[in-house]
Amino acid sequence: MRRSKAELAKMRRAGSVVAEMHEATRAAAKPGVTTAELDRVAREVLERRGARSNFLNYGHPPFPAVICTSINSMIVHGIPGPQVLKEGDIVSIDCGAIIEGYHGDAAYTMAIGAVTEEARRLIEVTERSLYAGIEQMTVGNRLHEIGRAVQRVAESAGFSVVREYVGHAIGTAMHEQPQVPNYWPGTPGPTLKSGMVFAVEPMVNAGGAETRLLDDQWSVVTADGSLSAHFEHTIAVTDDGPEVLTVP
Ligand code: MG
Ligand code: MG
Repeated sequence: MRRSKAELAKMRRAGSVVAEMHEATRAAAKPGVTTAELDRVAREVLERRGARSNFLNYGHPPFPAVICTSINSMIVHGIPGPQVLKEGDIVSIDCGAIIEGYHGDAAYTMAIGAVTEEARRLIEVTERSLYAGIEQMTVGNRLHEIGRAVQRVAESAGFSVVREYVGHAIGTAMHEQPQVPNYWPGTPGPTLKSGMVFAVEPMVNAGGAETRLLDDQWSVVTADGSLSAHFEHTIAVTDDGPEVLTVP
């Protein structure tokens, strides 16, 4: 699907709301704060900006919050609640917004106070792997070069890339086809064209790539209990190169 200039303008606005949710949650995330409080802070941004949540009531069972909060060995889809952030944790915040029917989706991982050297390096490498993927988003390149670049950065640092959860096209729905794997799936995939928009979202584990779904049917953790980090942006392919839409 290729988006028009008018559609991209709406997606830019949705993206700026998501960026503001990131700024607000990042400022609020400190030792002693609950993940439910971070969700409340993100809801305030949606309300102030007149945006709707694409996370709230998503899926089965319906997701009960506007952000996902995934701590330490949790990879993605953690449900905000009474859990308290503590010094030494790493927390991944994933959220989205809808403006005039168009979606934005982005995630980041941050350290709560001082963390281990491994945790710090995992966060740094995962973010760098996202930007290596974004660099591949040029007209005429092939979709799966994104995942190949992500995988190269993550694995050369000694980490592993999650296979079961992937990025996606995005536009008038949060999750559109095609999927965007964070690894080389064996084929180059579709050719990238101007106006295509994708959410690229490496999930990188400090240990093995295997995952496990918890009983709440949402929370996904590393099978070996190792730390995991997650970074995501919504990015348009344009004639001038990749444009990150989830920015202020
Ligand atoms: Mg997301
Ligand atoms: Mg996404």
